[in-house]
Amino acid sequence: MIAFEAGLAQILAKTLEPEFESISLNKALGLITAAQQIAAIDVPSVDNSAMDGYAVRCADFMRGNTFTVSQRIAAGDLARALEPGSVARIFTGAMIPAGADAVILQEDSQSLVESNQVTFTETPSLGQHIRLAGQDIRCQSEVVAKGHRLSAGDIGLLASVGVSKLQCYRPLTVAFFSTGDELKDPEQALEPGQIYNSNRYFLAAKIAECGAIPLDLGRCPDDAASTAQFLLKAAEQADCVITTGGMSVGEEDYVRQQVEALGSIDFWKLAIKPGKPVAFGQIQGTAFFGLPGNPVSAYVTFHLLVRPWLLKSMGLANLVDIDLTTASLTGYSAMANFERYNRGRRLDFLRGVVRINVDGQLIADLFDNQSSGVLTSISAANILIPMAAGQKLTAGDHCAILPLSCFGELKI
Ligand code: AMP
Ligand code: MG
Repeated sequence: MIAFEAGLAQILAKTLEPEFESISLNKALGLITAAQQIAAIDVPSVDNSAMDGYAVRCADFMRGNTFTVSQRIAAGDLARALEPGSVARIFTGAMIPAGADAVILQEDSQSLVESNQVTFTETPSLGQHIRLAGQDIRCQSEVVAKGHRLSAGDIGLLASVGVSKLQCYRPLTVAFFSTGDELKDPEQALEPGQIYNSNRYFLAAKIAECGAIPLDLGRCPDDAASTAQFLLKAAEQADCVITTGGMSVGEEDYVRQQVEALGSIDFWKLAIKPGKPVAFGQIQGTAFFGLPGNPVSAYVTFHLLVRPWLLKSMGLANLVDIDLTTASLTGYSAMANFERYNRGRRLDFLRGVVRINVDGQLIADLFDNQSSGVLTSISAANILIPMAAGQKLTAGDHCAILPLSCFGELKI
C-alpha cells in the first residue's frame, strides 16, 4: 500500500502526450487550447462612438454652440475628417472622424432641420462618449492561454479578434465497464440480492464532464475469460480503460489477475479512505485504472486520480485542487463546522458541503453518514475534506477543502 501523493505522482508521470488539430471556432466549445491565442488587431479597431449623437471638437465651443452638420456616420461607414467648425451626426459604434474629440448625446441637442444645423444644450468634455481603439483588447496581447478549456465567453472573445480556427487538443476516448454479476441496469427488474449498476452511469457522466469521449462497454461477467476479453477489447479501442469492482483478492475478483496477465500493474492499493483497492497500470500500452466496486469509492477515486490524468493527457495546464506538476493537493480552506478525529492510518476524504455564511466566510459541514456505501453523500456533497491519519479537527479550525467540480474550482 502506498501513500496517496505517491500514487498520484506515478499516475501523473504517465500521462499521454496530447495530440492537437485545427478546429473551427464553432466546434471548439469545451476543448482545450493547444496554443496561446494572440490578438492580431485592436478591439475596437478604431475610436468609435458609445452613443447616438454628434461627434464634435471641444475647442469649437469657444465660439458658440450652434454648428453645421457636415456628415452622417453610421456604424460601418468610413468617416471623413471633420470639417473645421462643423459637427458630424454619429451613431453607436460608428467611427469617430479625425479631428473630433467628443460625442454629445442626441438628447442634449436640438436640430434645426431646414438649415442643416444643430444646437447643443451641453458643453462637451474631452473624450466623452468615445470608446478608444484597443480599450477592450490590445493588438498582440494574449486573449486565451495555452492549455485552457474554452468557455462560451472565450469563444465570443476569440471571434471578436477574428479567430476562425485554432489548434485544440484531441479529446481522449475512455472505455469502461463494470464487473459484478449482481448488477442490473435501471430499466431492468431486480431479483433478490441484485443491485442497480450506478458506477456505469456516473462514470459516463464524469468522463463526459472532463471533455473526454465515454465508450461504454457495459457489464462484464465475473469470470476470467470474459474479463480478459473485455480488457483487450477496451484497450484496443480507447486511450484509457476504466473498470469498477473485482479488484480485491476474493474468488470472484478477476480484474487484477487478468490485467497482470495482459499488461502490468504499477500499484493496486492506496492508503486512502474511501478507495483503498484502486489500481493503476497498463494493458498492451493503454493506461488502466481499476476502480473499487463500491460506488462512493469509485466516484472519489475517479475524481482524485483518473480526472487529473485525463485532463493532463488532454493538455489542460492545471487544476485548482491538484497541482498537475507536483502531484500535490492544493484547493481552498474553510472553517470546519464539525468535530472529527481520523483514528485510522489512511488519508480520509470526507464528503462535505461548503457554504458562505452571513460574514462571508466559507463554512464546511460534514455529510452525516460517512459510510462509503452511502451514495447519497456524493450527490449531496460539493467538496471532499482531506484528513490525514491522526489529524483532529474541531469546530472553528481551518480545514482543506477540495471542490467536487471538474477543474476543482469552487462552486457554491
Ligand atoms: P467488488 O469490488 O466487486 O467486491 O464490489 C464492492 C461492492 O460494490 C459490492 O457491494 C458490489 O455489489 C458493489 N458494486 C460493485 N460494482 C457496482 C456498480 N457498478 N454499481 C453499484 N454497486 C457496485
Ligand atoms: Mg464484484
